[in-house]
Amino acid sequence: MLLAEIISVGTELLFGEIVDSNAAYLARELGARGVTLHRKTVLGDNLERVSEGLRLALSRADLVIVGGGLGPTDDDLTREAIAAVLGETPQEDPALIAWLEGLYSSRGRAMPQVNRKQAWLIPSAEALPNPVGTAPGWFVRTRVGGKERFIVALPGPPREMHRMWRDEVLPRLPLPDSALHAVTVHTQGIGESNVAELLAELTRAANPSVATYARRTGVDVRVAASAPTLEGAQALAAPVLATVRERLARWTWGEDGDTLAGAVTAALRGRTLGVIEAGSGGALSSLLADEPGFLDAAVTVDHARLITLGLTPVTLRDHGVVSEPAALELARGAREHLGAAVGLAVVTTAKGEGAGRTFVALSDPERAEVRALDWPGDAAQIRERAAVAALALALR
Ligand code: ATP
Ligand code: MG
Repeated sequence: MLLAEIISVGTELLFGEIVDSNAAYLARELGARGVTLHRKTVLGDNLERVSEGLRLALSRADLVIVGGGLGPTDDDLTREAIAAVLGETPQEDPALIAWLEGLYSSRGRAMPQVNRKQAWLIPSAEALPNPVGTAPGWFVRTRVGGKERFIVALPGPPREMHRMWRDEVLPRLPLPDSALHAVTVHTQGIGESNVAELLAELTRAANPSVATYARRTGVDVRVAASAPTLEGAQALAAPVLATVRERLARWTWGEDGDTLAGAVTAALRGRTLGVIEAGSGGALSSLLADEPGFLDAAVTVDHARLITLGLTPVTLRDHGVVSEPAALELARGAREHLGAAVGLAVVTTAKGEGAGRTFVALSDPERAEVRALDWPGDAAQIRERAAVAALALALR
C-alpha cells in the first residue's frame, strides 16, 4: 500500500484568498489510482513551518506531495525546506540554468538573477520539466527507516501542476496494481437519511463501498469497488450496484455525468418545453439552455407582462405572483403564449420579506401540477433550488 500526504504551501491559501483546488485535484487523482491519502495540510510561506510539516509527513507517509512555493521570489521556500529536511545542499544545475536562460532569451529577455534558484537541485532530486512555466518540479527519492520514500514538489498554478502530475510524476511512481470502478446514481425527491436507511447494510461494507451525498440536484449514491483489474472491480461492484439501482429506482433520474436538465429532456420524449420565471432571474432557463427541446423562456417580475403571459388579474389581486394559482396559470401560459407542448413556471421571492417562498408548476395536455417550497437561504440558493424543483417536477 502506498500512503500519501499532500502539503499545499502559500500564505494566500492559508488565509483563504484562494481555494486549494490543487489538493482536491490531487486527492481525486490519488484515490482513482489506489493510493491511500491520509492527510492534507495547508501552510503559509514560512521556512520553519514548511520544514516541520515536511519532516512530519515524511515520518508517516511513503509519498509527500508539496504544491506551490517553487517561484523565484524570497517567499517561495519549498526547495529550501526539502533540502533542510534531508540535510542536503542545493546546487545550481547547469542544464536547468541553460534551459531557463533559453526560455527568457526566446522571448527576447535576459533571465533575472532571482530566477537562478529555480535551477537548483539537491543530490536526491531529479528535475521535473515544466512545459508551461518557469518552475521545474522536483522528484525526490529518499529513505526513512530503510523504507523508500518520495517527495514530489510541483508548482502552484493549476495548469502547470495538472500537466506535470500527469506527464512527469505518474510515470515515476510505484503505483499499486489496482483499478477502481465507481458509478454514481442520482436521485430526486428522497432525503439523504431515507436513502441511507434503504441502503443500510450496504453502506457498512468497505469494498465495494456505498456512500450517499446530498447535492443540489438531490441525493447521490456512489458505489465504488477496487480490484487488481478493471474487470475484477466491475464484477465486484455489479451485484451491489444492481441492488442500489433496484431500491432507488422510483427516485433515480440518472447516473454519472447525466444532468437533471438532460433527464428532463429525456422525459419530454420529443415534446417542446416553455418556461416562465418570476423572481428566479433565469436560473431555470440557464439550466435548460443546452437542451434541444427547450423552446423559449420569459423571465420577468413585471405584473403587466405576467398578465400578457397568462396570469389573471383576479389571481394577481387575490393571491399575488408568488402563489399556487399564479404558478399554475403561468405554466399553462408558457404553453399558450410561448407555443410549447409542456409549460413550466417558477414564482419565487428570492430576497426581502418572505424570502424562500416558492411555487413551481407544470402544465401539459394531461396534467397540471404544482409544488410549494419554503426554504430560507440567500437569493442565489433560493433561485437555484427553485430551478431544480421545477426540473424535478418535469421529470415525472
Ligand atoms: P510560480 O512558478 O508560478 O511562482 P509557485 O510554485 O511559486 O509557482 P505559487 O506562487 O505558490 O506557485 O502559486 C502561484 C499561483 O498558483 C497562486 O497565486 C494561485 O493562483 C495558484 N495556486 C497556488 N497554489 C494553489 C492551490 N493549491 N490551488 C489552486 N491554485 C493555486
Ligand atoms: Mg507562492
